[in-house]
Amino acid sequence: MSLDLNLLTVQSARTAVEQRQVTAASLAEGFYKKIESEDKDVHAFLTLSKERALAQAAKIDAMADKGEALPPLAGVPVAIKDVMVTKGVRSTAGSKILENFIPPYDCTAVARLEAAGALILGKLNCDEFAMGSSNENSAYGPVRNPRDLSRVPGGSSGGSAAAVAAGTAVATLGSDTGGSIRQPAAFCGVVGVMPTYGRVSRYGLIAFASSLDHIGPFGKSVSDAALMLRTIAGRDPLDSTSADVPVPDYTAEIGKPVKGLRIGVPKEYFGEGLDAEVRASVEAVIQKLAAAGCEVVNISLPHTKYAIPTYYLIATAEASSNLARFDGVRYGHRSKESKTLSAMYRRSRDEGFGAEVKRRIMLGTYALSAGYYDAYYLKAQRVRTLLTRDFEQAFQQVDAIVTPTTPTPAFKLGEKSDDPLAMYLADIFTVTADLVGIPGMSVPCGKSKEGLPIGCQVLTKHFDEATMFRVGHAIEHACVAH
Ligand code: GLN
Repeated sequence: MSLDLNLLTVQSARTAVEQRQVTAASLAEGFYKKIESEDKDVHAFLTLSKERALAQAAKIDAMADKGEALPPLAGVPVAIKDVMVTKGVRSTAGSKILENFIPPYDCTAVARLEAAGALILGKLNCDEFAMGSSNENSAYGPVRNPRDLSRVPGGSSGGSAAAVAAGTAVATLGSDTGGSIRQPAAFCGVVGVMPTYGRVSRYGLIAFASSLDHIGPFGKSVSDAALMLRTIAGRDPLDSTSADVPVPDYTAEIGKPVKGLRIGVPKEYFGEGLDAEVRASVEAVIQKLAAAGCEVVNISLPHTKYAIPTYYLIATAEASSNLARFDGVRYGHRSKESKTLSAMYRRSRDEGFGAEVKRRIMLGTYALSAGYYDAYYLKAQRVRTLLTRDFEQAFQQVDAIVTPTTPTPAFKLGEKSDDPLAMYLADIFTVTADLVGIPGMSVPCGKSKEGLPIGCQVLTKHFDEATMFRVGHAIEHACVAH
């Protein structure tokens, strides 16, 4: 095969298959070879779904041989974070408690990718139940950052970001509850998109915090991410929170000039604790946007400092409730030694869940308990409303907001794993968008002196992913494309 698999994009993979430069089957085989030889160190993949990918490839090849019109992602090799269930393919959520769980149905986002012709290569490593910022909380061992193997890829969708960066999948799906798409995208130097809450169905996403969970794509470029999002977005009767809002053709929107757009720069995102190189890169992006004709507006999001505590109250509260279903009866691991029913529940959970998951269940149960509910959970919901108002006011003045995605580039494995609070702060710039429900993306915008990728975050109004992609594309063009 003469194609360089590392350089393939969604569009170029499809074109190669359509023009019969390569068969979908040999493309799949090529990726499996690459995974076998290159994923040992990175450890992005937990399970391969070879049978499924090859069956799909055979279908696409038959269509192409007959000269039939091919669907938009025909033959594109993709992979899925292991928090999305896949029919007949093990889905672990990065947890021992689901080690042998073979779901009987498909997550809607996965079904839509496959219906559009994509080849599902396999399932990707992640922090257990998507709880983490470094991928060190996976029960199956960490993912390493392909740009520097001594560093974390970010989390919790570390495998999804690393697979795209390593070229072991053309594009991937991840999930974002507090930053888990954007933060690993920034650490691995790829594009990661969290759509508006409700834009993509959560049906078949193993729940962490239902009011914050989002599915979204990773790609090498803004236009790859846009093609992926268009495929998975839109109302799904199987998820009552999925929105009945038309999905624009993002690819057509992307190329529109950014001249005249008003770009907000919130002072709270450029304060203490921001790494000097990250600051310099993002400030350079803002200057480039100004040079492209954008109007740069200094804004304030005054409640930003409450976002982390608010997030960790709401996310843990919802997690403690969602994770109650893992009891050794309905799914996954069941403790063998117990003599009574309640001991079986307790032991199954004790043996199946890892330390971070247990910590969150305890925090969330405490925050929801009688007597503390008003002081913690209800208070957090009120602050969430204040954060929403901050953004409503900002978006009266600006069309998009540009910030750093993370305070620092990728840190070393082990650097923060004994200090949960330090780890929680890795999400300081990302959690707010999840709380407010607006879309956000991370676009690579530079490198540190050590060669580590730096990401720039773009936030827009609810359901205005089109403007987000336009600004993201302009940043990509200014920072990467030459
Ligand atoms: N790092 C955050 C957490 O640990 C966010 C995780 C996520 O977005 N899934 O909760």
